[in-house]
Amino acid sequence: MARVKNQIAAGVDLGGTTFSVGLLTREGEVVAHQQYDTPRSDGEPLSLEAIVAAVSGTMESATVKPHELAAVGVGIPGPVDPEAGTIKQCPNMHELDGVNVVELVGEGVGAPAFIGNDAYCATLAELRYGAGRDVERLVMFTLGTGVGGGIALGDSVQRGPRQIMGEVGHIIVDPDGPPCGCGSYGCLEAIVGRDGIVGRVALLMREGRASSLAEMSGEGHGLLTPKMVSEAAEAGDAVACEVIEETGYYVGIALCDCIVLCDPDLIVIGGGIAAAGDLLFEPIRSTVRRRSMISGFDTTKIVAAELGSEAGMYGAAALAWEGTGG
Ligand SMILES: [Zn+2]
Repeated sequence: MARVKNQIAAGVDLGGTTFSVGLLTREGEVVAHQQYDTPRSDGEPLSLEAIVAAVSGTMESATVKPHELAAVGVGIPGPVDPEAGTIKQCPNMHELDGVNVVELVGEGVGAPAFIGNDAYCATLAELRYGAGRDVERLVMFTLGTGVGGGIALGDSVQRGPRQIMGEVGHIIVDPDGPPCGCGSYGCLEAIVGRDGIVGRVALLMREGRASSLAEMSGEGHGLLTPKMVSEAAEAGDAVACEVIEETGYYVGIALCDCIVLCDPDLIVIGGGIAAAGDLLFEPIRSTVRRRSMISGFDTTKIVAAELGSEAGMYGAAALAWEGTGG
């Protein structure tokens, strides 16, 4: 059946090593999905022309005609100005700092373009097409190298006029805790971001605790990742289990604050370490049960993200649909 005008949105998810382009219907059906290297294999820095070419190439491969494209959304791993359409700062891709994506990509693909940061896109993706598709009030935490997140109220992801609403990684969970990259102390990110998790594993090993992670952690434990820690925990490593449990505790403490601020219908946890499953989710849920007494929040409503590494692509396409009034 021939597709009609404006039936497809493109979602571009920019990352430090790869970027992906997805073509989605308004209902979230993926018509095509392709991944490209960042920087490109010819050694050129990533340019908006390359992004435009990738969108066009993905459309051609799926025989999507230009008139079928309603809009394109671009998700950026750094702060953006969605009103102006510019990238404020793009870590690892500084050639894109200050660039006006909305103008240049919009002209290049011949359809309206929209821009959002990656945490916004991941939250919007889960709200529209993932774990939160049946709710209107959602809190999302993404546990990765850093800790990102987002808040949706009234079926719309909120960022606030200064773009900081939902920066859950900087909720202070230990006032006397370790320094955070933001300049404060004891933020959630400083404790359960990559450096926090790896640092706590390294500390326990330095204290003489035996762990299967010792032989794979490299000099100064530089090779350790949260994913390795969650896999070791799953295999029963006591040090890894202790750190994952403690991670769950601190995430739970931060969630208690979110619950009294947002009264969410659902809490969604994503990011590499969420794969630890019940080892992570049980301490999160038990902390919320014990420490959020007045809310009576149903802890079965704390669930894993559904869209995984494709959340950015889904979210960027959802951003495009929102921009067109969808
Ligand atoms: Zn911070």
